[in-house]
Amino acid sequence: MSEMLRYLPAFHDVRGASVLVVGAGTVGTRKIEALLAGGARITVVAKVFSAVVEERAAHGDLMVLRGAFHPDQMEGAEFIFAATPDRTLNRRISAEARRRRIPVNVADSPEECTFLLPAVVREEEFTVAISTGGRHPGAAKALREFLEEYRAEISVRLERGRRRKRIAARPGKVYIVGAGPGDPDLLTVRALGLLRSADVVIYDYLVPQEILSLASGKAAKICYARRGRTAGHGAVLKQNAIHEAMVRLAREGKSVVRLKSGDPLVFGRGGEEAEHLSRKEIPFEIVPGITAALGCAAAAAIPLTHRERSSSVTFVAGHETDEKGKSAVDWGLLPKDGTLAIYMGVGRVAAIADDLTAAGFSPDTAFAIVENGSRPEQRVVRGILSDLSRIALNSGIRSPAILFVGRTAAALPYESTEERSDESVAQGV
Ligand code: SAH
Repeated sequence: MSEMLRYLPAFHDVRGASVLVVGAGTVGTRKIEALLAGGARITVVAKVFSAVVEERAAHGDLMVLRGAFHPDQMEGAEFIFAATPDRTLNRRISAEARRRRIPVNVADSPEECTFLLPAVVREEEFTVAISTGGRHPGAAKALREFLEEYRAEISVRLERGRRRKRIAARPGKVYIVGAGPGDPDLLTVRALGLLRSADVVIYDYLVPQEILSLASGKAAKICYARRGRTAGHGAVLKQNAIHEAMVRLAREGKSVVRLKSGDPLVFGRGGEEAEHLSRKEIPFEIVPGITAALGCAAAAAIPLTHRERSSSVTFVAGHETDEKGKSAVDWGLLPKDGTLAIYMGVGRVAAIADDLTAAGFSPDTAFAIVENGSRPEQRVVRGILSDLSRIALNSGIRSPAILFVGRTAAALPYESTEERSDESVAQGV
């Protein structure tokens, strides 16, 4: 390859340039079309012209010189393309062009070129030029096709980036933000933008490290709640400490993100926090997140509603109230023809199964437990209500896990292999 080899990043660089193309067969025609699209002024030398080029010539889009190539035709050309089927002729054109210091490109012969044309993907915001130095045109083509296929996704990402940049957490304000079930990709654009720009992040223990790491490196990160039991006096203290911290930091002029797992208003005490902030006249905003029921249902392909199998979905808290022994839920009132999504219930699945059965749920109603939904360590265990406590115990299900009950919780008829192995967990116990 020539030392003076240059790349033309894109054809729009040839706008208005005088270009000589020798050869008007398949290859020549392709180059001519691209050059015309780039706005070049073209002269074509050839003995035989393709129909397309003939038509272009008839339209006055280009000039044609019929007959054999002669070096004098190079006069005034700014770029030369040799695209004849005759290799010797191509080599001669290249030599003549180089002698005149006119950049030359010879089709399929990088060593005769002083510039190459990369494959180009052109979008509104960017132009990507792909080149393999002429050695692997197939690879360049594959890469271009790949980029073209993902064009929509790239645009979405660009748009997301633009939106995110516009989002900035304001000083003196508290943002009560839902972080979703755990997969960082399930954050909203707004949540991510606020997280990146906040001075302080007060987070729940359920929010995974991958999400926290998206916060600005300069942000203070505070976790008040600890993993474990949240009922009783300890939880009240913790909650008060969070309330006080939010108010204090906002009054200091900090932008505060109060980051909660799932959605802040679903079993998340977001309501209490908002009430407290409003009482203290601190400006706040609530940013929704994907609640565990939605994230886990999607992850386990559980249709929460279904035209034939469920016409309602109910989010239920599975834990007890502080008054010992009394469930917070009136199980008898729950619809039996819908889907139940029971949060915080893994610790008392046996009691829940009893409550449901006593409330009239059939013992063969399907259930699914999704543990660590949307996270890499996600597990799904299925069965029927009468086996719930045994299966949950034997598979060692731990928090965070959500329990779905209803006909929709059964595996889909076209279950994936992943779910088959889940079921073998359930059957093997
Ligand atoms: N505000 C949260 C719920 C907090 S209560 C939301 O909207 O999702 C905590 C309960 O949520 C857990 O006990 C569990 O039942 C459920 N949960 C949260 N994240 C979960 C996950 N990744 N997988 C399964 N269950 C989850």
